[in-house]
Amino acid sequence: MADHHSGIPLISIPGPNKFSLNETALERLLLRKEVKDLPVAVISVAGAFNKGKSFLLDFFLRYANHQYGEAVERDIWIGNDGEPLIGFPWSGGSSRSTTGILIWSKLFVCTTSKNGNVCVILIDTQGIFDGESTVQEWATVFAISTMISSVQIYNLSQNIQEDDLQHLELFIEYGRLAQSKTGRKPFQKLLFLVRDWSYPYEHGYGAIGGKELLEKRLKTKDDQHVELQNIRRNIKSCFEQIDCFLMPHPGLKVASDPMFNGSLADIDPIFRAKLKELIRLVMTPANLVVKRVHGEVVTTKDLLTYLKKYVAVFNSGKLPEPKSLFMATAEANNLSAAADALDTYNKSMSQPGVRRVYVNETKLRDLHVRSKETAMQAFIKKPKIGSPSFSEVYKQKLESDIERSYKLILATNENRNIFALLLIPAKLILLAIL
Ligand code: GDP
Ligand code: MG
Repeated sequence: MADHHSGIPLISIPGPNKFSLNETALERLLLRKEVKDLPVAVISVAGAFNKGKSFLLDFFLRYANHQYGEAVERDIWIGNDGEPLIGFPWSGGSSRSTTGILIWSKLFVCTTSKNGNVCVILIDTQGIFDGESTVQEWATVFAISTMISSVQIYNLSQNIQEDDLQHLELFIEYGRLAQSKTGRKPFQKLLFLVRDWSYPYEHGYGAIGGKELLEKRLKTKDDQHVELQNIRRNIKSCFEQIDCFLMPHPGLKVASDPMFNGSLADIDPIFRAKLKELIRLVMTPANLVVKRVHGEVVTTKDLLTYLKKYVAVFNSGKLPEPKSLFMATAEANNLSAAADALDTYNKSMSQPGVRRVYVNETKLRDLHVRSKETAMQAFIKKPKIGSPSFSEVYKQKLESDIERSYKLILATNENRNIFALLLIPAKLILLAIL
C-alpha cells in the first residue's frame, strides 16, 4: 500500500473547545465527481487513547485497498509476513500527535448488490481520554464521529465497563428525542469492540461471544444507578443495530515491543484470524452499512452539509443539548434535499439540444416551467425531518435558487443569440462574394 495517501484532519482543535472543520480539503475530497453522488458508508473507530484504534484501521485500509480495487488475488489482503503496517499513524506508548478526527485521503468505491456503488470512508479519532484533552473535547470528537458515521466502532480495553456505557448518554438522549420526533432510529450501527478479551472460556472470541457479553451488560438490574438503567433501556432507540466483538490479545510484541513495526509474523495467529473475521463483518460489500438520515440514503456530498452544521453547533462554547443537535440534523437534512432538487433542475435544463445552442425563448421558458415543477415536487415528496412549516424556508430558498439559475441560463442563451445574429451578416457577405 505504498501510495501517497494519508490521514488528513477532518476536524482540528486549534484551541480549548474550539473545533474547526477542514473545509477546503474536505470539499476537494467529498465533492469529487466520481464519488459526490454515491451513497456513503462511513466507518469510524473511537475510544480511549493508545488502545490500538489506528493499528486496527490500518488493516481496514489494507482490506479496502485490495478488495475494492482492481487487485485479483483476493485473499492476500491481510498482507505478507514482515510487511510494516502503514496508514493512519499508530504508535506504542508515545504521546499523541494530533487531536481530532482524521479522514483517510483515499475514498474507496465498492460495488454492492443492495446499494450499487458505495463510497467507503474511513475515520480515525484521536486524543480521547489521554489526560490532555478536556472532557468536552472528547465528547465532541466522539459525538461528531458518531453523528456522521454509519458504523461506529467503540474500541474498548478488556471489557465493557459502566463508564463506557455512560459515555453514550448524549446519544441516548438524542436518540430518544429523534425517535419521538421522527419515529425512526437516528443511527445505523454501533459495534462494541473489546480488545484483549481474556475470558474466552466464558464468552468465546468473535461476534457470538460478543453478543452474549453485550446481552449480559445491557441487562438492567435493580441495584444499578437510575441513569445507567436508563441508558440500558434506551440505547436501542439510537442504533438500528448494536453488536459486540471480542478480540483476543495480539501478543507481547504488539503490546510492548518498541521495535514492533506491525509485521504479521509478530502478531498472534488467533488475533490474525479474528481480525480477518471482524474486517469481513464490517467491510465485505454485502455487510457494508450505508449512512442514512431519516431513512434516506446520505451521499458523499451531503456528508459535508451535515459536518458543517454539526461543527457549528459544537462551537457554541458548551456541549450542545440533544435538541440543538437535532435541529442541526434537521437543517442539514432539508439543505441536502434542496441541493438535490436544484441539481435535478439544473440537469433537466442542460438536456442535449439546450446545452450549447441558442434556443427559442418560449421553448426555454416551457422547459424551465416543467423542470422547476419536477424539482419542487422532488423536494416536497422527499421524506425530510421537520414539519412542512419548518421546510417552508428551504422550499422558498430552493425556488429563488432555481429562478436565479434560470436567469443565468437565459442570459447565456441570449449571448448565443447575439452570436447567431453576428453570424448572419457574415454568411450574407460570404454569399454575396461567392
Ligand atoms: P490508538 O491511540 O488507540 O490509535 O492506538 P494505536 O493504534 O496507536 O496503538 C497503540 C499501541 O497498542 C501500539 O503499540 C500497538 O502495537 C498496540 N496494540 C494494537 N492493537 C492492540 C491490541 O489489541 N491489544 C494491545 N494490548 N495492544 C495493541
Ligand atoms: Mg490512533
